[in-house]
Amino acid sequence: MDAEAVEASRTALAARLAGITERIGDAARAVGRSPEELTLIVVTKFHPASLVTDLAALGVRDVGENRHQEAQDKAAELADLDLRWHFIGQLQTKKARQAARYAHAIHSIDRERLVDALSGIDRTVDAFLQVNLTDDPSRGGAAPDELDRLAERVLETPSLRLRGVMAVAPLPEEEEAARAFERLRRYSERVQALAPDATAISAGMTHDFAEAIAAGATHLRIGSAITGNRPVAG
Ligand SMILES: *Cc1c(COP(=O)(O)O)cnc(C)c1O
Repeated sequence: MDAEAVEASRTALAARLAGITERIGDAARAVGRSPEELTLIVVTKFHPASLVTDLAALGVRDVGENRHQEAQDKAAELADLDLRWHFIGQLQTKKARQAARYAHAIHSIDRERLVDALSGIDRTVDAFLQVNLTDDPSRGGAAPDELDRLAERVLETPSLRLRGVMAVAPLPEEEEAARAFERLRRYSERVQALAPDATAISAGMTHDFAEAIAAGATHLRIGSAITGNRPVAG
């Protein structure tokens, strides 16, 4: 890209970020919530590190990635930027300790073996329990009836700070998302019965963040509406 094209793409990025921030505020106020309660995580997967730099210049502090190798490389390259890296993808047990070196939070804690792999690391990582809201095990996330045990396991692990629950809505249709996020709210209450401080709910993407906010989401993971379309997976 020449200098003019770079400038134009930065301007467009700033406009999309401002637009989404405004829509988040509207969605929060529409259900009597304050936008201050919400953390916006901008999902930058598949995009180059330069996009993350541009986002940081616009004031973004929380970024989300779903592939370990890519996240690790970007976090190393951008170590000066004072960003909080949120790992949001399925995480292999054998990569867990490496991810814990750069990740401020892991949103995809979905099995006890992963918790075990994260015990004994020498820093504290925020942990979200990912719940599968579908019947398809390949979608990632713990089955709802495994949640209590998983929460207890995380609570026994000093290197993990249990923040709450996370989910991806099963279908993009609005009503489906709204119903799924209401279920997620009930799972969150169950986890809070065991861990009163674990009040966070990580939910809401480009097409369903308003429904997620209505159902109590505290951490929104929004990608393409802000970054533009993702480059094809490399
Ligand atoms: C990619 C991704 C997002 C962001 O998706 P968009 O539709 O681009 O906003 C959020 N959460 C997870 C787990 C993702 O993998």
